[in-house]
Amino acid sequence: MSQESSDPMLLTILGTAAAEGWPALWCTCEACAEARRLGGRNLRRRAAYQLGERIRVDFGPDSLWQMNEFGLDYAALEHLLITHSHGDHIDRREIMYRRPGFADLPDDNVLSIYGNESVREYLEGGRHSLEEARARFITVKPFEPIDLGEGVTATPLLADHADDEMALNYLFERGERAVLQGNDTGWWPEQTWEFLAGKRLDTLIIECTYGSRKGGHHHLGAEDVLAVRARLLKLGTLSESTRVIATHFSHNGGWLHERLEEFFRPHGIEPAFDGMQVEL
Ligand SMILES: [Zn+2]
Ligand SMILES: [Zn+2]
Ligand SMILES: [Zn+2]
Repeated sequence: MSQESSDPMLLTILGTAAAEGWPALWCTCEACAEARRLGGRNLRRRAAYQLGERIRVDFGPDSLWQMNEFGLDYAALEHLLITHSHGDHIDRREIMYRRPGFADLPDDNVLSIYGNESVREYLEGGRHSLEEARARFITVKPFEPIDLGEGVTATPLLADHADDEMALNYLFERGERAVLQGNDTGWWPEQTWEFLAGKRLDTLIIECTYGSRKGGHHHLGAEDVLAVRARLLKLGTLSESTRVIATHFSHNGGWLHERLEEFFRPHGIEPAFDGMQVEL
């Protein structure tokens, strides 16, 4: 199915929690109890994004829940971009259900999976090969755009999120438009800031894992989100009217959706919720 280049393509934020979800598995803390009681936008799945029908970012343990909740057709996916190998972002077993006997898929249905070397090792390290799952792996290089067809490119940017692997964020561009998927960023290395200085974003999606707490290395908190926005404004990457969305919230950060809205409202920033959509 081809799309007119003038029609906006929708990017859906499918999950807005940190690794253990929110309410978190097993957890008895006050923030989880409140989220369970209130429900709605306080119920957060593990991070993932879908751009149109063909393109997906990350495939973690909530992929089935996301498929059913948001009416997704995974057989239509062609490109799966993985940010890093942490278990909330990629679950090998879920990919392996593409194998014959688990899924009816035509032989020519092949999923291209992109990521760093750690993701490759993880995906290729199980009992079954990617080939059996009708998938192929492409190792990406930072700052080199990937052509995803229909005028869409994704450029991997370096994050500061993991000490033992090259965690990535993806910059999606389509014609004049650009959306940056930024969860698990930490405070970006200088190369990423320099690269972004030459870009203009329509939407920035940026992590806020620590909520009320201060972050920096590996993850950010709400105050850091303001600092990221301020620096990108100075670089000309953002304007005052650019949509800025905070996501990837941990229950350890404490602030429920309403409190996040209160904090961010004066700065024109929106806290994400599962199912939120932005245009590319
Ligand atoms: Zn994460
Ligand atoms: Zn908790
Ligand atoms: Zn991670």
